[in-house]
Amino acid sequence: MSPVVQIKNKPQAKPITVAYGDGIGPEIMEAVLKILAEARVPLNIETIEVGQKFYEKGVSTGIPPAAWESIRRTKVLLKAPITTPQGGGYKSLNVTMRKALGLYANVRPCVSYHPYIKSMHANMNLVIIRENEEDLYAGIEYRQTHDAFQSVKMITRSGSERIMRYAFEYAVSNGRKKVTCMSKDNIMKLTDGAFHDAFNRVAKDYPQIEADHYIIDIGSARIASKPHVFDVIVTENLFGDIISDIAAEVSGSVGLAGSSNIGANYAMFEAIHGSAPDIAGKDIANPSGLLHGAIMMCVHLGMAEEASKLHNAWLKTIEDGIHTGDIFNDMSKKKVGTKDFAQAVIDNLGAEPSSYRVVKYQTGKGSPASHAVLAEAKEKRELVGLDFFVQWIGKDINELGAKLQAISSDALTLQLISCKGLKVWPDIVTEMDVTDRFRARYMPKTKGSAVTHADIAKLLAAAAEKGIDFLKLETLYTFDGKPGFSASQGE
Ligand code: NAD
Repeated sequence: MSPVVQIKNKPQAKPITVAYGDGIGPEIMEAVLKILAEARVPLNIETIEVGQKFYEKGVSTGIPPAAWESIRRTKVLLKAPITTPQGGGYKSLNVTMRKALGLYANVRPCVSYHPYIKSMHANMNLVIIRENEEDLYAGIEYRQTHDAFQSVKMITRSGSERIMRYAFEYAVSNGRKKVTCMSKDNIMKLTDGAFHDAFNRVAKDYPQIEADHYIIDIGSARIASKPHVFDVIVTENLFGDIISDIAAEVSGSVGLAGSSNIGANYAMFEAIHGSAPDIAGKDIANPSGLLHGAIMMCVHLGMAEEASKLHNAWLKTIEDGIHTGDIFNDMSKKKVGTKDFAQAVIDNLGAEPSSYRVVKYQTGKGSPASHAVLAEAKEKRELVGLDFFVQWIGKDINELGAKLQAISSDALTLQLISCKGLKVWPDIVTEMDVTDRFRARYMPKTKGSAVTHADIAKLLAAAAEKGIDFLKLETLYTFDGKPGFSASQGE
C-alpha cells in the first residue's frame, strides 16, 4: 500500500518509517497520517509492509529485509497493529522488533478521561515502564521429560539498572514525583531480588523523586482499586505485560492508549490494542490509540509544540462529545466513524480543551535511553557445587537416592534430592505429587573444599556410564561467600 500522505522534503523534516499493519491498521493509520499532515508535523515518511502478508509467504518473523533496511535508516517506526497468525512457527513481530532493535523500555501511559469517557477511576494518571528484553519473555523454554516443561527467567543486573535509570529519567523529564518498582522478590529472591536491588541503587541518584516498592500481587490489586496512588511504575517484562492491560482496562481506555518502545538507537510507536479483525474495513475503529502513539513519537523527535497541538485537539474533540462507537456513552454528542473522528480532530487543531487540563510538552525534555553497562566483576566468584537434573520414574525415591549416591565422589557428594523445589530425599516424606524430573545437589564432602570443572566432568562421565538419564546441570557459585543459588524448601 502506498501512503495516503507524503510530507516530503520539508526543512528539518524528520525521517520516519510507517507500517500500515493488518485488520483495522490501514484505516487508523490513514486517519492518523492525515491528522499529522494537517497539523504540519514535519516528517519524511517511508512506508514498509510487514505482518500477515509476509507470514503467509513463509517469512516466520513477518518482517522482510526491505522493512529492516528502512527502519535501520530512519531509526523511528510508527506501526499499526499486526495480526499474529495462530499456531506454531510464527514469531511475534513485536517481540522480534523489540529484541532486534534493542527497544528495552516499553512506556505505556494510562490516563482516565472521566467524565467524557467512562472510567472506573476518575483521577488516574500513571505510566507503566516495562522492561522489554528479559524475564520469562526471553522465551527460553524446554520440554525436559514426558511430564515436565521449563521456562527460564533471565534477569540481568545491567538490564535492570538500565530500565531503572530510564524510569527515573522519565519521571524527571515529565514532572512526575514518584517511581514505584513492582517485583516478586519475596519468592524469587535472586532474579527479582536483583531487579529490586537495581531499583534501590539507581533511586539513590534521584533524591528528588520518591521511590517505593510493591510486591506485584498487591501492586496489581492496588492498580485496580486505587490507581491514583501511582505515578510511574517500573517492572519486569511479564508483570508489565499483565499490569499494563489491567491499568488500561480500569482507566476505561483500552482502545485509546498509545505506547512507545525505546532503545539507545531506535524507537517504535504504536497503539496498545490489536488489529481488531472483527471490525476491519468498516470505518468504525477508533484511531486514538495510534494517534497517542504518534504524539509520543513527536515528543521523541523533539517536536513538543506539534505534540501539544495534536494532544489538545484530541482532548477538545473528546470533550466536545464526538466519539467513535467503542467509547460512546451518555456524555457523547455525536457518534462518528474513523474518518469523521479524524476530521473532528483536524477541525480542532489549534484549539484547547476547557475541562481537561491543557497539555504542554517541553522541548528537549526527552528521557535519554542508554546501553546496558556490565558492572566490573569485583566479587569473588567460587565454584562450590552442582545441581544435576535427572528424569526418573519410580515409586521409591530411596532407589533414586542410591543410584545418585553411587556416582558421588569426595569432591561432589550427593547432599539432597528435590522435586518441584521441595526436598524429597534423604528424609522428607511429602504429600506432594512428584513428577519425573528431579534435582540432585552435589557439594564437597568436606565443607568449603574447592570444586573444579574436572570434578563435574568426572561426575557426568560416571552418570553416563551408569545410564542415569540426566537432563541438564547448573553449576553452583558463591559471590563473596554468598550463595548464588536458592535453597530447596525443607532444606
Ligand atoms: P484486539 O485489541 O485487536 O481486539 C480486542 C477487542 O477490542 C475487539 O472487540 C476489537 O474490535 C476491539 N478494538 C480493538 N481496537 C479497537 C479500536 N481501535 N477501535 C474500536 N475497537 C477496538 O485484540 P485481539 O482480538 O486479541 O487480537 C487481534 C489480533 O491483533 C491478533 O492477531 C493479535 O495477535 C494482534 N495483536 C497485535 C498487537 C500489536 O500489533 N501491537 C497487539 C495486540 C494484539
